Amino acid sequence: MPELPEVENVRRTLEPHLLDRWVRGVWVYRPDVINGVPLAYDLLNQGRIRRLLRKGKQLAIETYDRRAICVHLGMSGQLYWKQGVGHSPSASAGPRPDHVHLQWRIEPDENGARDAMNTDGESGTGLLIFRDPRRFGEVATYRDARVLLEQRWNELGPDALTIEPSQLSPILRGTRRAIKAVLLDQRALAGVGNIYADESLFLAGIRPTRVARTLKAAEVERLCGAVRQVLQSAVGAGGSTLRDFKNADEQPGRYAQFHQVYGRGGAACVRCGGVLTSRTLGQRTTVWCKVCQR
Ligand SMILES: [Zn+2]
Repeated sequence: MPELPEVENVRRTLEPHLLDRWVRGVWVYRPDVINGVPLAYDLLNQGRIRRLLRKGKQLAIETYDRRAICVHLGMSGQLYWKQGVGHSPSASAGPRPDHVHLQWRIEPDENGARDAMNTDGESGTGLLIFRDPRRFGEVATYRDARVLLEQRWNELGPDALTIEPSQLSPILRGTRRAIKAVLLDQRALAGVGNIYADESLFLAGIRPTRVARTLKAAEVERLCGAVRQVLQSAVGAGGSTLRDFKNADEQPGRYAQFHQVYGRGGAACVRCGGVLTSRTLGQRTTVWCKVCQR
């Protein structure tokens, strides 16, 4: 499941293809992936793209007239770029690729003039494609981006990539839940899922089963530092590809080779050489070292 580093990589790799470009056509193959109005207008048609935003695991595309769509990739969703218009639905009624639910045609300027001058695929015209085999993903539409930013995203906790102890401490103090459960709760902290929760807790030397409010100030500080460090490293490595994650240019991430605990239950701890414990906590497989994590 794409977590913060994977979604941030999708955002960064989409940006050069989309910023300041125009949406010139929207094709809806599966209206049920849309939360909101499935009209082309609400899916940004004829708008010029102003910015790509991310909070936690959610990505948004906003136009200059302040319309927005918010994309949640769910378990297996992909948002990617196809250069050129080779299989533009307007040009061909042929079968769409498997599991493609939405497509947008993107053009470089208002009349596509630059497109006409270039025929080598460097024109900036292409398709933005939303594909989701397991259909846990979602595209939500907003006629005013402020509703997204001030309501939907306001319900999320602070973004994990820049989390500070002053933000996390009050959240931990108010709960009897295990620290791992709090890290996974998007209303407490936005962006961390199972992979990066286990990796961060290992780096911070904190047991996933610890009751959150028993963490001392020094441990909260260590945990925030670990969350930021793990996420930043993963963003830099293009994210983790376990099965099918790819960025917008269809490149897999390289961070899985740096996982120290995730997926390594029963293997040797990289720090002490002991056997890593694996147990199901809150329906998620959790891996930790009983020696190194207290
Ligand atoms: Zn260890």
